[in-house]
Amino acid sequence: MSQHKVALLGVPVDHNSSYLPGAASAPARIREAIHCDSSNMWTELGVNLGDNENWVNVGDIAFPNDDRQQTSQMIRATALELIAEGKRVLSFGGDHSVSFPLIDAHAQSYDGLNVLHVDAHGDLYDDFGGNPLSHASPFARLMETGRISRLLQVGIRTLNSHQRAQAAKFGVEIIEMKDWSDNAQIGFDGPVYLSIDLDGLDPAFAPGVSHYEPGGFSSRQVIDIIHNFKGALIGADIVELNPHRDINNMTAMVAARLSKEIMGRLLVGG
Ligand code: MN
Ligand code: MN
Repeated sequence: MSQHKVALLGVPVDHNSSYLPGAASAPARIREAIHCDSSNMWTELGVNLGDNENWVNVGDIAFPNDDRQQTSQMIRATALELIAEGKRVLSFGGDHSVSFPLIDAHAQSYDGLNVLHVDAHGDLYDDFGGNPLSHASPFARLMETGRISRLLQVGIRTLNSHQRAQAAKFGVEIIEMKDWSDNAQIGFDGPVYLSIDLDGLDPAFAPGVSHYEPGGFSSRQVIDIIHNFKGALIGADIVELNPHRDINNMTAMVAARLSKEIMGRLLVGG
């Protein structure tokens, strides 16, 4: 089985959060949870991450200040560098603002990129609080680049008229949570980037997030999505863990479980 190189990248940014800070401390918590001795390093699909030298922790991006444009540029440049080295990047946010430069770097590197986005929110605001890089707007900024083949959002349960209009304008495909079926066939032609906002899960499963939106996915459902969608996964991020709101690290452990399943799929391809 072919093996790809995988890089785990921390992106400790929360100055684009509209409601609560805290997500900047998430990458360290997720890394600790991945290595926590309470679990092992096997994925459910049989990849032993503990016996695999093809993935590496590349640490956190060291941002010199809170300048939003500079931060975004550094994220994009770091991702472009890792991709150019032949690595598949799994990034840990940070708030969801980090996904715009991360996905854009992949779209610049992979023709016809598709995006699968798990979230309670569409994150499609044209303008939210006067901050174009807000965590409420990354998928609007991304679609404005014209480089994305398809954006499919799942788990959404907070659409308003503005975001519906934005989705129509950009041709965003949305399976709202109210319409979700575990038999949904999700498939893409070509490369796929997966972006998981942990508030896409129900707060009963993932309480360590800033925005509680009851009625979301179970951990099991998100793991099944990771395992089952058709397409070639080439990069991913897990964002919006807010350790200040977590209970006994349970959300960090959910993020770690999702990370391991994503790493397994990134390593073996498909
Ligand atoms: Mn989000
Ligand atoms: Mn969200």
